Amino acid sequence: MKKTNEQTQKLDHYGNCPVCGKSWDGGEIFDTMRSYDAYDNLSDFELYEMIRKCYSPPYKWSRLLAMEDPEKYDGVWEYHCPDCGAVFPSEVKKLKS
Ligand SMILES: [Zn+2]
Repeated sequence: MKKTNEQTQKLDHYGNCPVCGKSWDGGEIFDTMRSYDAYDNLSDFELYEMIRKCYSPPYKWSRLLAMEDPEKYDGVWEYHCPDCGAVFPSEVKKLKS
């Protein structure tokens, strides 16, 4: 079976929805953490180091909703746009479909 462009294209979790065009960029993780009192004891450098250890580049939040389907796979099965509800298959779903 020939794969369509949608099936082979990797989803940019921080880019724009290909259906409605709204941005999925949820902002810098650092900015969110810095605003929490719980991290007041950390310097900016220490906070950056903690984020670097616990998260992956580009160290941002994604607004894209990761959905599971426990009957099909133990993990993300598909993604939903929070703005228009468009559904995008995960890499796993593409492989198993
Ligand atoms: Zn959308």
